[in-house]
Amino acid sequence: MLLQKQRELVVEYGKKLVTTGLTDGTFGNLSVFDRESGLMAISPSGMDYFLTTPEDVVVTDLEGKVVEGSRKPSSELDLHRLFYQRRPDVNGVVHTHSTFATVLACLGWAIEPVHYLVAYSGTSVPCIPYYPFGSLELAEAAWDAMKDTYNACLLGNHGLLAVGGSLSFAFDAAQQLEFLSKVYYHTRLAGGGVMLTDAQLQAVLGKFQSYRQA
Ligand SMILES: [Zn+2]
Repeated sequence: MLLQKQRELVVEYGKKLVTTGLTDGTFGNLSVFDRESGLMAISPSGMDYFLTTPEDVVVTDLEGKVVEGSRKPSSELDLHRLFYQRRPDVNGVVHTHSTFATVLACLGWAIEPVHYLVAYSGTSVPCIPYYPFGSLELAEAAWDAMKDTYNACLLGNHGLLAVGGSLSFAFDAAQQLEFLSKVYYHTRLAGGGVMLTDAQLQAVLGKFQSYRQA
């Protein structure tokens, strides 16, 4: 079986999406990219995370063609493969419909640097307008908003996208950015909040770099 280890990771983190409350039911999706073979392991479409086995995880190339697996790959295949194609530092992608990130995505609010954990994304978390789920337009719009600058973005009227050097980083980002979304929402409702300055943010981003490598 191709990408056995990566398929196991997709199964493991799929369950974590549910147990940590980042998604309900079969919503959301995740993938791991193997740079050596140029193939990715992506969660199957519409399958219960607790019933998904490594055999159910689909292996595709970066054109989106299924290389191994009998299931249909996630409908957000394009959202995953574009980042692997265009960013050499990305090897894991997580997409969720977590509650507060989705609330902000429905309000059309990008997240300002109200808390240092914004560094999981960069200096902010951009928000794109609505595009139909599973569409190439959605994937291209997310790419345009993030490029090399951000590791996450809010998908208008939909949810959150987080990418990282590994699936574990992308997952941590999704989890911490859900916390950040909750904090940002309440701070704005309470009248605004004090935003971090550029200098403070740059210092955090530098520390993040060394912290993550340690
Ligand atoms: Zn979605």
